[in-house]
Amino acid sequence: MEESQKKRIVVLGSTGSIGLQTLDVVRQHPDKLQVVGLSVYGDVDTLLAQAHEFGVKNVAVGRYMMKDDARITGFDGRAECGSKAVAELAALPEADIIVNAVSGAAGMRSSYNALKAGKVLALANKESLVVAGELLMPMARASAASCGVSGAIVPIDSEHGAIYQCLIGEDMSKVSNLWLTASGGPFRGWKAEDLVRVTPEQALGHPTWNMGKKITIDSATLMNKGLEMIEASWLYDMPFTKIQVVIQPQSAVHSMVEYCDGSVKAHMGPTDMRIPIQYALSYPDRWSAPVEPMDFCKLGSIEFEEPDWDTFECLRAALYAGRRGGTLPCVMNAANEVAVTAFLNKSCGFMQIGECVTSIMEAHMQLGVQEVESIEQLEGLDNWARFNANTWLLSHQVKK
Ligand code: MG
Repeated sequence: MEESQKKRIVVLGSTGSIGLQTLDVVRQHPDKLQVVGLSVYGDVDTLLAQAHEFGVKNVAVGRYMMKDDARITGFDGRAECGSKAVAELAALPEADIIVNAVSGAAGMRSSYNALKAGKVLALANKESLVVAGELLMPMARASAASCGVSGAIVPIDSEHGAIYQCLIGEDMSKVSNLWLTASGGPFRGWKAEDLVRVTPEQALGHPTWNMGKKITIDSATLMNKGLEMIEASWLYDMPFTKIQVVIQPQSAVHSMVEYCDGSVKAHMGPTDMRIPIQYALSYPDRWSAPVEPMDFCKLGSIEFEEPDWDTFECLRAALYAGRRGGTLPCVMNAANEVAVTAFLNKSCGFMQIGECVTSIMEAHMQLGVQEVESIEQLEGLDNWARFNANTWLLSHQVKK
């Protein structure tokens, strides 16, 4: 492929799990992909090593206080600091695809800027859609970069990438259900009385996928699957009545689409995030990948079971927020981010994550859920929810 035909990508959150694996994909396909921008929150050394390896001249660091750091001021290229600088990198003129692998609602502004600038958005940051789907999806569908069933957005999330592939060539009006599979996390089958004493170390031991800390805790509480229901409803314009969750402990089936004639298309493959990442970058093409192939003769059984909606309060809370819509998912998500951080710092119990989320959602509902109007409104409510979640956690502090 000619230099000019390479897809030029910006990787936001390049030192996180998805960011590192995205760069792995680029290493496999240097003839097809070129990195033109990188951002991190605070790990400047790794950022500079990546910029050197990939010859990147545009970098951004989320922490504003790094701006006077000699490593930043001495960078051979453009280096900016602060959350605004990260979001601006999402509109870098020479980029074709923006990989948004920022963790949490902090990535929302970058998704917005990328779509506004007419980029293809390879989206790992599901919180963007959970919080601001109402603003982002019309932009994605109207974009000149619109290229598939979700407009200009190509999902990196494994379930949504799987559904995306199952929907290609199909008539969306013939879909009867989207089936999101969930591994069930490390606490599948556990009950509330045992979950009370769970430690971050136990919760970080995900059985099948290797991911960042925030999403791994979300997988343990099943909040991740709740966020993914909301993400799927936006990406594929589906009502919640047509979005089902099923536990598939082996993570061999990455998700399924059921059609009106009873046919079900399932997406299978190894549990390696580099596959959905690469697909989002290669789409509509498919490139070879150095993965361990599936051996169906050795796979054994594939089980399916119903999720435990009673025990896993976060799953229930997220579905409630998604159905209610408006600004409720924004508040739900922010409270969850605060509670997950507190749990990782051992200042909140595992079961308190769901209690905190529900409590802040109730407070917001009493004040009045609003129609989504702007990014600024959502950022303001996100701050409100964080403040209130922190206050709630302080008054329910567990002893370390
Ligand atoms: Mg997922």
